[in-house]
Amino acid sequence: MALLDSVTAVANTADSLEPAARATMAAVCELTGWPLGHLCVPAGPEQEFVSSGVWVGETEEFPVLREVTARTRFAVGTGIVGRVVATGEPVWSLDVTSDPDFVRARQGVELGVGAAFAFPIVAADGVAAVLEFFSRRVTPPDPPLLRVMASLGHHLGRVVDRQRAERAMEAGRLRLEQMIETSVEAFVAMDAAGRIVGWNAAAERMFRLPREQALGRSLAETIVPPRYRIAHREGLGRFLSTGQPKVLNQRFEITAWRSDGSEFPVELAIWPVHDDGDWMFNAFLHDITDRRHAEEALRLAYEREQSTVARLQELDQAKNDFIDTVSHELRTPLTTIAGYLEVLTGGDAGPVPDHQDRMLRTMTRNTVRLQDLVEDLLTVNTMGLNQPVMKPVRIPVREVVDRAVQTVEEIARGRGHILHVHADADAGPVNVDTDHIIRALRALLSNAIKFSEPGAPITVRASVTGGTVSIVVTDVGIGITAEELPRIFDRFYRTRMASDRAVQGAGLGLTIAKSIIEAHGGTLTATSTLGEGSAFTVTLPVGAAPG
Ligand code: ADP
Repeated sequence: MALLDSVTAVANTADSLEPAARATMAAVCELTGWPLGHLCVPAGPEQEFVSSGVWVGETEEFPVLREVTARTRFAVGTGIVGRVVATGEPVWSLDVTSDPDFVRARQGVELGVGAAFAFPIVAADGVAAVLEFFSRRVTPPDPPLLRVMASLGHHLGRVVDRQRAERAMEAGRLRLEQMIETSVEAFVAMDAAGRIVGWNAAAERMFRLPREQALGRSLAETIVPPRYRIAHREGLGRFLSTGQPKVLNQRFEITAWRSDGSEFPVELAIWPVHDDGDWMFNAFLHDITDRRHAEEALRLAYEREQSTVARLQELDQAKNDFIDTVSHELRTPLTTIAGYLEVLTGGDAGPVPDHQDRMLRTMTRNTVRLQDLVEDLLTVNTMGLNQPVMKPVRIPVREVVDRAVQTVEEIARGRGHILHVHADADAGPVNVDTDHIIRALRALLSNAIKFSEPGAPITVRASVTGGTVSIVVTDVGIGITAEELPRIFDRFYRTRMASDRAVQGAGLGLTIAKSIIEAHGGTLTATSTLGEGSAFTVTLPVGAAPG
């Protein structure tokens, strides 16, 4: 009973095997009168047991035994130690000199030992150590003592289990601490009283405050901007009294504060832990100043862009209004001029001498040009706002082409061009707004004339494939560079060649032609080679009415 009591006390307080084993062996020696105790421990992967070097009792009295033991390895099942390990039970040898199991007595030396007994220290996963005791005299087994020893072995096993669990916990805690310490995110922990209890290296850098100074301080006064401190304390109080988290277990953005008064935005994740009846709050903080700057720069750029767009729209509107006003103002006087010119050239106002007639015709040509320009300007000005109204009629393709050609025939003849017109026999009727389509084709034809040398041939070819009519206007004129080609349909765009050669035009004809053709569900495209000529292709769906 005395033995059990003292060992139980040791087992409950010892935090490692060796002192527990020492105390146990001392108690056993004292209470049984056996002079020597020894602790064997496992060594190596083979599950062999060896001396731990820990001897208790009259150690000086047994030098030979100790020396032999020190160089003996007990494989499982070998010697009394090996048998204890193999069976997990106590073993008693009443006379080691005649016991074939006691291998240390088989080495031809006098050990000075009569009886021996050993018992295992049994941990959760098996025999963790063996305690053995020696007597000078031959002694018969003492079954009650063996039972007590077996029980002691189990008690001491708990010491081993506890030590292992503590080591595992400690290793886990160390790993966690290292992870937190080396984290690039700042880690800050606070207890229920609002004091800082955790502060890693990244927090030191973020708040420019060493850990020794941070620990124990009020968190609110260390990292929360003054204006939020009351809210912070209220939030903490609310959580502690109601258990209702408002900001816990989620990520959010918040303003952090340094003791020099500077503030910066952080992304924050807080999670509470209930530890020993008290709450603790852990948080990782990530400085998002750079992200905020980037967002801000993006927002400013967007706003600048928006205001530029608005300004451009304003300017565009002002320009449109101006063009509109001027064009309308020009329309009426031009009509008057054209009317009087017609009267004069028609001879209705009396005979006109030849040289004056030539002048009047030049004036008429230029008036018509001005009128065309005014109409083009008005058309282009309203194009984005309202689609031109189309009045489709069914008309043979050939007729549309011929009527368009007629509009430029006089100018073409004046410059010596030959106009070749081909139309496939089956290029049947189309549903188009004739005036508009003629206007579009006229723009292509007059370009072919304007941008060719006098006398150069110009071809118009109409054909049908599938449900599409194609009309191609080809010239062998100055051509267009590959870089400029994609832009010729832009309003007011003119190629360098056109400007350099001072060819008349405002850069509106193709814009208007394209919009008319697209309003019919068709397309207008161009191919060209600089110095060789150009081909403009109009496609129109057969029979489809313009939208
Ligand atoms: P413009 O009134 O200047 O002819 P357009 O819109 O009809 O305006 O044409 C735009 C520009 O495209 C022209 O200024 C010219 O540079 C180029 N272009 C159009 N048609 C031809 C062509 N057949 N050959 C060469 N360049 C052309």
